[in-house]
Amino acid sequence: MNKKPVRRSSKQREAVMCAVEELNDHPTADMIFLKVRQSNPSVSLSTVYRNLGVLVEEGDLIAVKGPGSEVHYDYNVSNHCHIQCRICGKVSDIDFKPVEYVSMLPEQASGFHVDGVSVTFTGKCSQCLKSKKGVINEY
Ligand SMILES: [Zn+2]
Ligand SMILES: [Zn+2]
Repeated sequence: MNKKPVRRSSKQREAVMCAVEELNDHPTADMIFLKVRQSNPSVSLSTVYRNLGVLVEEGDLIAVKGPGSEVHYDYNVSNHCHIQCRICGKVSDIDFKPVEYVSMLPEQASGFHVDGVSVTFTGKCSQCLKSKKGVINEY
């Protein structure tokens, strides 16, 4: 009765979710893929991408898109701000008051009905500032 192929994909979804939580600091799909591979050697990158897509759609994960091309994933789905390093692309949470959007009226938002907010600051992380890489990129 309950033997649909859905079962298998939800098991993989769980593995993807676990990997995001274990990696903890806003990992990219590639990082998540490598982590999932450790316990599921047969899993493919496209499976990981597909499951990440479903998890984002269902609100279990947030996709953080900064100025770079890579998407980072966050299991903390509460309203919070991020900062991304311009040099290495690392994403971290930032201790900054989240932008209040729940009370925003369509008149304030070009007629849009606002249902979310995504704020990503940019800067240089402490590691890049310390390394030569950061200095070179300064000029
Ligand atoms: Zn950096
Ligand atoms: Zn975050």
